[in-house]
Amino acid sequence: MIGIEDSVGSLDGIGPQRTEALAACGIRTVGDLLAHIPFRYEDRSRFRPISSLKENEWALVCGEVCRAGAYRTRRRGFSIFEMLVRDDRGGIRVKLFNQPYAARLYSVGTRLVLYGQVKKDAFSKGALFFANPECEILDGKKDPSSIHSGRVVPIYRRLDGLEGRVLRRIMFAAVSRAPQELPDAVPAYLRGKLRLPSKSNALRQLHFPKLAGNGAQARERELNLLNAGLSPEHKRFIFEELFQFQAGIRMLKRHRMQCGKNRKFLLDGKVRAAIKKILPFHPTAAQKRALGEIAEDLRSEHPMSRLLQGDVGSGKTIVAAQAAVIVLENGCQAAFMAPTEILAEQHYFYMKRLFEPLGYTIDLLKGSQPVEEKKRVSLRVKSGETRIAVGTHALIQKNVEFENLALVIIDEQHRFGVLQRETLRRKGDRPDVLVMTATPIPRSLALTLYGDLDVSVIDELPPGRQPIETVWYEENRRPAIFDRIRRTVEAGYQAYIVYPLVEESEKLDLRAAIETAARLKAEIFPDLQIGLLHGRMKSREKEVVMRDFSAGKIHVLVSTTVIEVGVDVANATLMIIEHAERFGLAQLHQLRGRVGRGSAKSTCVLVGHAGDNPEIRRRLEIMCETNDGFRISEADLELRGPGEVMGTRQSGVPALQFADIVRDRRALEIASVEADRFLQLLQIRPDRECRRAAELIRRQWRDRFGAILTG
Ligand code: ADP
Ligand code: MG
Repeated sequence: MIGIEDSVGSLDGIGPQRTEALAACGIRTVGDLLAHIPFRYEDRSRFRPISSLKENEWALVCGEVCRAGAYRTRRRGFSIFEMLVRDDRGGIRVKLFNQPYAARLYSVGTRLVLYGQVKKDAFSKGALFFANPECEILDGKKDPSSIHSGRVVPIYRRLDGLEGRVLRRIMFAAVSRAPQELPDAVPAYLRGKLRLPSKSNALRQLHFPKLAGNGAQARERELNLLNAGLSPEHKRFIFEELFQFQAGIRMLKRHRMQCGKNRKFLLDGKVRAAIKKILPFHPTAAQKRALGEIAEDLRSEHPMSRLLQGDVGSGKTIVAAQAAVIVLENGCQAAFMAPTEILAEQHYFYMKRLFEPLGYTIDLLKGSQPVEEKKRVSLRVKSGETRIAVGTHALIQKNVEFENLALVIIDEQHRFGVLQRETLRRKGDRPDVLVMTATPIPRSLALTLYGDLDVSVIDELPPGRQPIETVWYEENRRPAIFDRIRRTVEAGYQAYIVYPLVEESEKLDLRAAIETAARLKAEIFPDLQIGLLHGRMKSREKEVVMRDFSAGKIHVLVSTTVIEVGVDVANATLMIIEHAERFGLAQLHQLRGRVGRGSAKSTCVLVGHAGDNPEIRRRLEIMCETNDGFRISEADLELRGPGEVMGTRQSGVPALQFADIVRDRRALEIASVEADRFLQLLQIRPDRECRRAAELIRRQWRDRFGAILTG
């Protein structure tokens, strides 16, 4: 028996070298190793008669070597070892390329199990052969079933420096020697209730599955579930992960509720007067309500942790700014973090203008600033001279310290992870935290996911907004598009033309954007100012272009998706999205949200080709039908279904290994209900099992996020 915390080095077959190779992949303990579950399975339980093999199929055969020899080819340093392997009724050639040790391993009479793809040999009149198959020597005593054959065989994601079969052998040793009882985040009562297999049994089954079903069809079904990651054992791990996540979030929240903050900010007459000074317009009822809820949190003795949710253009920024005023007027600092430099810059200029009448110092921190400047700003932030620090991830760097940070605001929070949120939170002494999102996640899902947050919703657009009209044009309507641009500019408004920047075609799209800008300038609109904005530009250049566009000096801004989130220029009323078929719904909606920000009527033109792809067609049609972000996110969910809607990166949820929060929505709901019950149980009468589960959850959260959980 071996402990789950023991070093992998204590397993047979793992010496110092392999220990090191595994450590390089983050695998140190037996537990880490067991967590590396196969990503695929192959049924190698049946041996095939060699005479029945067909070209291109993968097959498992068993036979005896009846001829073997090495020969060199003309290519220098290239060797081939060839054998003929026969079973009762047939024989097949086996070629091993560049395996100099083969001659020592295999000789006439060796019994072998082979697994590989059957190929046709061009050098030998089209006879069938195996090229570099997996070979396993049978030593006569054993029957021909083993680790690598005669069973459903696990295929592992490659780990550096470890060949697949070696890894499989190591896993076999780990699984056979692992303890019967493994620490489990799902307490026993819950496993019983939900009929989840125990962790150790599930691991055994996932690494070396035994199919229970009788008959080819039943076996195939089981194998398919395994390969899809949806076997009962996979589901067990999916649930454990979600339960752990949900319980952890609740512990975090309880911890927050237990610790007081030694300040209370009042929204008194003086603060109200200050807010009045900065407000450029009357807030909507929804904005007022949100601010009221935030003010309540600021006044309470517990740190705020609030999500401000509102569709694009609903006016979240000004609410955040008002919250900042409350904190600033009470003598403390605020930090405002945004996911992109353009957005951070824009918030910086916006706030700077807003706060001018109040005389607060506001500073910008971003990655691309010269080191000297960053240093200067950091010093000002540390001394407390800076009252609001606006920035990107640069804000959470180690060397950035605050004097008395009391409010943390995070914009487009779905672009950040829990860890980043926590890092910024830690820059202050239990600061109040406000995160904002125009999240493409359906409401119900968002509530489950952000279980540690209170939620305020802005469900109303500022007055005078007209719904954005969306039309879909095929590529050949170019003249009509130019005509629209011309009319927009003549009416005194501005336009965006956006190109997708999908990674694999990045260069191409960049070129398309640059060429379009040049062509518009030279041929179509020589009398207009055409601007160009893309990710490869220096941030100084981007800033100039954005400023000119905001100031109305640029009529048409050609851009890659760098403007996707948050950019706010109310005078822009035309959004043209090129290759709209390449964007997802959430992204199209964000992009479209760049227009319709003033009182003038805005239009969004989707230029795209659906071909005979019904999904693309439906996507573009939905965009033309509705402006409602939540309806769009629901449609997105239905259209793309499981797994596609949001990667963990976008949702701000910590990386999940097994679960997919969209596909596993049901499990997530159950996990969240059960996590509530579990926490109650912990408080009233926790048995040993529950306490152990809670301990494990705490420990894993600490490892993942450095968060200390109590409760
Ligand atoms: P988002 O919620 O997408 O971040 P913004 O905060 O950028 O939206 O606001 C969108 C635009 O609406 C901005 O130009 C902002 O000045 C304007 N705005 C916000 N609230 C109001 C309001 N109550 N009345 C008029 N305009 C408003
Ligand atoms: Mg915004």
